Amino acid sequence: MIVAIDGPAGSGKSTIAREIARKLGFQQLDTGAMYRAVTYSALDRSVDLDDEEAVVDVAQAIHITFASHAGESTRIMVDGHDVSAQIRTPEVDACVSKVSAYPGVREAMVVLQRKCADAQDIVAEGRDIGTVVFPHAEVKIFLTADPHERARRRVAQRHAGEHVDEATLEREVKQTLSALEERDRLDASRAVAPLTAAPDAQHIDSTRFTIDEVVDQVAAAVNARRA
Ligand code: C5P
Repeated sequence: MIVAIDGPAGSGKSTIAREIARKLGFQQLDTGAMYRAVTYSALDRSVDLDDEEAVVDVAQAIHITFASHAGESTRIMVDGHDVSAQIRTPEVDACVSKVSAYPGVREAMVVLQRKCADAQDIVAEGRDIGTVVFPHAEVKIFLTADPHERARRRVAQRHAGEHVDEATLEREVKQTLSALEERDRLDASRAVAPLTAAPDAQHIDSTRFTIDEVVDQVAAAVNARRA
């Protein structure tokens, strides 16, 4: 079975996909991490990101794998090196939409994504999962949340367990909000596989739901398909 979760940046896709994978015993596939890995690798090799051919060469040359160990979060590896932390920098955030808009980069990633679903039940999250990668997915979710709430959650996640004063938090929420909105604008307006809901997707606005409530709604959709 394939569960597709699409939606804008920071809508909670990764958290929900992780919980669904754990609850139902599915493999989680974070496709955003793959586009981030290509972006990080291109930056690391000092490739000019305006040079489409050179960026596509990087996407085709690197070997992306996922490693998961019981009780730990899934790690993403490029050519055997764990880059899970390196793909989450503000620099990668700012460049990933440019890289992911290149058709050659997408082609290389979609081949890998479809391979993942060959042998196992998966919950895949991204922007084009229900529309392009797995148009026949049994369950399709389009997850959204109020932009301010998405920015607030991102900042809270960044400072989990730390004490940060209100003014700093408010400033970071503002910066994060404009970065998220810019990324959504680029992702939704690109020519190939833009961020959009599949016509048959179930829309869930997570703004006023807890994580558990959203997980329950997705699990109910999965169970309804299984029955
Ligand atoms: O999900 P995440 O925010 O980590 O995704 C990072 C970026 O990767 C997105 O902003 C988008 O440019 C790209 N992406 C994509 N297609 C996907 C998943 C992510 O273009 N299926």
